[in-house]
Amino acid sequence: MLEALNNLLPQTQCGQCSFKGCRPYAEAILAGDADINQCPPSGDEGIAKIAAFLGVPTKPLNSQFGEHKAKSVALIDEVNCIGCVKCIAVCPVDAIIGASKKMHTIITTECTGCELCLPPCPMDCIVILPLTNVNSAVAPSHAKQRYESRLIRLEKEVLAKTEFKRQQKARLLGS
Ligand code: SF4
Ligand code: SF4
Ligand code: SF4
Repeated sequence: MLEALNNLLPQTQCGQCSFKGCRPYAEAILAGDADINQCPPSGDEGIAKIAAFLGVPTKPLNSQFGEHKAKSVALIDEVNCIGCVKCIAVCPVDAIIGASKKMHTIITTECTGCELCLPPCPMDCIVILPLTNVNSAVAPSHAKQRYESRLIRLEKEVLAKTEFKRQQKARLLGS
């Protein structure tokens, strides 16, 4: 049930629904902790699909969570990028490449247009542009896989850091 409901969501992973991604929102709907009309990227059409799936009446998008917009993509004005890596840290689908103090760029074919990279950028050098060809938008199933892979990567990084600290402590105690 959770997987099927999650698959109905756009996988933009923008957090506008007030949850940290589409899966947590799906979990909240099924738990009765969220309403079906909190996802702006779904729009009324997507909400109607959720309602049909759950066998409940549909309702319009709750504008408190945002507006339904055309599909978009982010672009970095690379000349002004200072390589602070703040955008990389927040991209839910690992669509940004770059390194500390180096120019960053967005893999537009992976970008969901979630806009999460805009607020942390100290240079205001990221812009959101509407997709001229909506068929070139990243497929929800692909974005979902990228989002889940990122969560696994972050979990591995935490485990690796914990292990490194444990070994460092053991070395200090042994010396
Ligand atoms: S697309 Fe954004 S608002 Fe919609 S469920 Fe996913 S994270 Fe929430
Ligand atoms: S590049 Fe920016 S807009 Fe695109 S998916 Fe990543 S955080 Fe979202
Ligand atoms: S947040 Fe802005 S300045 Fe920092 S790396 Fe990303 S694009 Fe460059």
